[in-house]
Amino acid sequence: KSTTVRNVDGAINNTEEENEEDVVDLAANSLLNKLIRQSLVESSHRVEVLQKDPSSPLYSVKTFEELRLKEELLKGIYAMGFNRPSKIQEMALPMMLAHPPQNLIAQSQSGTGKTAAFVLAMLSRVNVLELFPQCLCLAPTYELALQTGRVVERMGKFCVDVQVMYAIRGNRISRGTDITKQIIIGTPGTVLDWCFKRKLIDLTKIRVFVLDEADVMIDTQGFSDQSIRIQRALPSGCQMLLFSATFEDSVWQFAERIIPDPNVIKLRKEELTLNNIRQYYVLCENRKDKYQALCSIYGGVTIGQAIIFCQTRRNAKWLTVEMMQDGHQVSLLSGELTVEQRASIIQRFRDGKEKVLITTNVCARGIDVKQVTIVVNFDLPVNQAQEPDYETYLHRIGRTGRFGKKGLAFNMIEVDKLPLLMKIQDHFNSRIKQLDPEDMDEIE
Ligand code: ADP
Repeated sequence: KSTTVRNVDGAINNTEEENEEDVVDLAANSLLNKLIRQSLVESSHRVEVLQKDPSSPLYSVKTFEELRLKEELLKGIYAMGFNRPSKIQEMALPMMLAHPPQNLIAQSQSGTGKTAAFVLAMLSRVNVLELFPQCLCLAPTYELALQTGRVVERMGKFCVDVQVMYAIRGNRISRGTDITKQIIIGTPGTVLDWCFKRKLIDLTKIRVFVLDEADVMIDTQGFSDQSIRIQRALPSGCQMLLFSATFEDSVWQFAERIIPDPNVIKLRKEELTLNNIRQYYVLCENRKDKYQALCSIYGGVTIGQAIIFCQTRRNAKWLTVEMMQDGHQVSLLSGELTVEQRASIIQRFRDGKEKVLITTNVCARGIDVKQVTIVVNFDLPVNQAQEPDYETYLHRIGRTGRFGKKGLAFNMIEVDKLPLLMKIQDHFNSRIKQLDPEDMDEIE
């Protein structure tokens, strides 16, 4: 069902089209995160560990040497530029490499070193003299499987006899082929097909089973059931590992169903706060008026880089054209672009090639650009019920307390949207000051 509403400035909006922007594609976001990641994501929280056997000693390592890895594997790790285990790896690696093998459920935000940890575990458990699949890793999409495969290839660079194969759609191999590669990475559907229908993989010989991105996995129709069917056919001595960036109840229930007797490791993420952000709003009549206000702000404060958020693709496009015509260097990040195109736009912005990034809601989740001086809400974030979307507001503007830098945020508000802004102010108990765009001196 779609309804047609008229904007203050007369443009007709189709709410269905607006909502299109709000469909979060978890797998695409996760891939985007991987493509733009440059280094480890830190958290000041402690790693929480729940051992299946609380009386057994808890080991943690501060160096990779302590893990007594194969020489060629250690070389691969150092060649990737890793000096020491990440926070989550300090606890997870000793468990993952223990004898006898232990099962593990690990949750921490993306970028904290989970993939590197399980790739290391798979590489260290492969017996190179045996030419059949020994490690099986399930990923939610073709592209995410490829990303993990790249990590295996980089870290295993010196493990010359270890090979990877992708069980993904389109990778055709004929029935009866003898797979000699030891590590298989694939999507649940194709892996299931290779195991049961085409009998290419003998699951009873798998030693390490990894279920990556469990939160994305359960979001995809059929993947939980397929994964469980695969897991059931694994031998009892097989090590089972599950990773997730988030941990809603649904993920947890799935994890407990699929991983027997697990150890559990969690690392909470750094919380966002509005404490070190100065927030302003400008009252406007319509879209043109908002644009004028934006221009005076832009002229009034010395800006390093700015991110401007719009609620719809249409508004974002309009604003981009206006700003370009006025000679600004802007780029537009929109949901129509492929993940690769989005990654390249974010990279260019990070490198300072563009000063202004205009974007819609979904695209900008997870972008972490520390050099951004101002954030502008050209439209306030609202949910489908047209109520303020507090979480998105916090994501756009908030920063983690540890990066003590002050931030500036501006909200362009049509008069009829003022109550929404007041709700946001109350919700966060944090002042949003009115600003006269003609008088920028008010910004201290
Ligand atoms: P996750 O799977 O949790 O998203 P990754 O394993 O992909 O995290 O790691 C995030 C980034 O940090 C990657 O660029 C990876 O190469 C790097 N990284 C992982 N472990 C280490 C480490 N111990 N030291 C330095 N960099 C690391």
